[in-house]
Amino acid sequence: MLQSVITEHIAKVRQQVEQACYKFGRNPSQVKILAVSKTQPVEAIRSAASTGQLAFGENYLQEALQKQQALADLPELEWHFIGAVQSNKTREIAENFAWLHTLDRQKIAQRLNNQRPESLPKLKVLIQVNVSNEASKAGVLATEVIAFAKQLVKLPRLELCGLMCIPKATEDMTEQRQAFAQLASLQTELNQALPGLNLSTLSMGMSSDLDAAIAEGSTLVRIGTAIFGARKT
Ligand SMILES: *Cc1c(COP(=O)(O)O)cnc(C)c1O
Repeated sequence: MLQSVITEHIAKVRQQVEQACYKFGRNPSQVKILAVSKTQPVEAIRSAASTGQLAFGENYLQEALQKQQALADLPELEWHFIGAVQSNKTREIAENFAWLHTLDRQKIAQRLNNQRPESLPKLKVLIQVNVSNEASKAGVLATEVIAFAKQLVKLPRLELCGLMCIPKATEDMTEQRQAFAQLASLQTELNQALPGLNLSTLSMGMSSDLDAAIAEGSTLVRIGTAIFGARKT
């Protein structure tokens, strides 16, 4: 996709975020945009970066590592891993990312903690919550989040920052908001259960439900299609 088109898309997404913030009484400085660049070429990431978009989300590890290498001349980029984590891939995630959004297993957390290099800051992690209670879906069940968080805070090389969800897709804004409201209230509960933790990141909202997510308190929207266009599958 042309640089000019990506620039225009990013301006539109920023405007949509600002308008949603205005509409729902949120402060736009508290909603960060993560550009989801999975399957998109390195040049598309360069185009986005040239507009000041510095946070990128990737789902597939080998693809992400190749892009990071090709973009090593841009050390200001902040890389978020947002895909499923296999336990044999934890070392490369621990060594090459600033954030992980999809933490849902103690064994993975333990490995990441052991493998996070001392030369890097703590790995920022979000607990992925299965808010739709879908049997097939990744994520911790809402009822298990507090117990899982209590384990995570014992790991010194991980920094628990908040929660993330990918609700069941629906075009109904009321339903979208219900799922996001559930994640937000879970975060409130967690902050009460673990005082001093002060979790503040809610990674929720994608291209098609970002207004609903902002209405319910999202601080990090993960936007792919609206920035880079449809993915070739
Ligand atoms: C692909 C993906 C996105 C971006 O989705 P769009 O609908 O293209 O904005 C966001 N979050 C996760 C976890 C994804 O896998």
